Amino acid sequence: MNDTANRPNSETEFARACKSIPGGVNSPARAFGAVGGTPPYIQRGDGPYLFDIDGNQYIDFIGSWGPHILGHRHPAVIRAIQLALETGTSFGAPTVAESELAELVVKLVPSVEKVRMVNSGTEATMSAIRLARGFTGRDVIIKFAGCYHGHVDSLLVQAGSGALTLGTPSSPGVPSGCTADTLVLPYNDVAALGTAFEGKGAELAAVILEPVCGNMGCVVPTEEFLQALRQTCTNNGTVLIFDEVMSGFRVALNCAQSRLGVTPDLTTLGKILGGGMPVGAYGGRADIMDAVSPVGSVYQAGTLSGNPVAMASGLATLQQLVKDDPYNKLESLAAQLEDGLLAAAKNANVPVQINRVGSMLTMFFNEQPVTDFATATASDTDRFAKWFHGMLDRGVYLPCSQYEALFVSATHTPELIDETLEAASATLATL
Ligand code: PMP
Repeated sequence: MNDTANRPNSETEFARACKSIPGGVNSPARAFGAVGGTPPYIQRGDGPYLFDIDGNQYIDFIGSWGPHILGHRHPAVIRAIQLALETGTSFGAPTVAESELAELVVKLVPSVEKVRMVNSGTEATMSAIRLARGFTGRDVIIKFAGCYHGHVDSLLVQAGSGALTLGTPSSPGVPSGCTADTLVLPYNDVAALGTAFEGKGAELAAVILEPVCGNMGCVVPTEEFLQALRQTCTNNGTVLIFDEVMSGFRVALNCAQSRLGVTPDLTTLGKILGGGMPVGAYGGRADIMDAVSPVGSVYQAGTLSGNPVAMASGLATLQQLVKDDPYNKLESLAAQLEDGLLAAAKNANVPVQINRVGSMLTMFFNEQPVTDFATATASDTDRFAKWFHGMLDRGVYLPCSQYEALFVSATHTPELIDETLEAASATLATL
């Protein structure tokens, strides 16, 4: 069994990092802020495993927060990256790999007729919002409480208050002017959506949402909500944006939009699209995408966008997903995990709610069904912290927040899920 008290090398490295990096990390979620303690420093990954610099091994259910659906160091992906590296790292001029990845995205994602590559999910959503505004000539956008779309100023709006509340910045440094045109609505609330559009439809540039939410924990949209979104946006000439940075190629090869049967106007992608390298993308209807520079006048650019090494990684990842079609396997492994966790929690008399779509899953320490931000934040986060550390000490690496989804990879096996469930039973018994 791993031992949190026995990570002296990680303790030393974290203390060292805190001196030169704010909070010791380059992205806040990694710092264990919500659960306390010191994050293990990772030496390497292999398939479903992570290994830290203290010699501990973990079954990994984060997968770099989404990208590693094929597990760590998939041979085809590593080989493609190595081959690309042999020819150089960046040219700032067109390469064939960019067209190959774009064509595959167009083929796989129902809403995408044209696509532009960027370097992160944040860039993708930022650019999609700008494009929707430029295309419609309107300013106001709608987002949903609890959905995260990267650290874009206009989308970094604190969740909470109800329909039609004007956005407030959730972060110092975001001028209120940046969020004044962002309306925040509750997820899954058809009536609030209707009210927001009443009399204002002609001002609304875009509605952006995670079509399967992962960033308040996993929250599933109702059929009614999705239909209302599509219909309302169509009726008002408002651009419907699905942020599939997390759900894209995760909940289905053809993304959440195929699974849910609703086609947005624009889609943002990231994570799996780069196979572990920094890639994001936004794409959609050709008439909208052609408003982007240099065809249209909506400006967006990037020195490293379409980087050849990153394109090779993404292309190899998507090609492998097409070839292997691991989605039935992912579904059955994740169902095994869900069923086992529910049984273990019941056995331990710990009330939980599990939301799952394909290989995305969150176990909420909550007595009520979780359908939106308000119900998600009613979860017992103290209990979650104990659960998280209990699992980590037993060699299972889960996301370090109640408001995240875990991911199963194609390299997990039924035996590894059983091992995870044994750790879960032992941990739940201590809560
Ligand atoms: N959108 C969604 C749905 C995400 O989950 C994330 C990242 N977790 C982002 C956007 C931002 O992506 P990135 O961290 O690559 O900027």
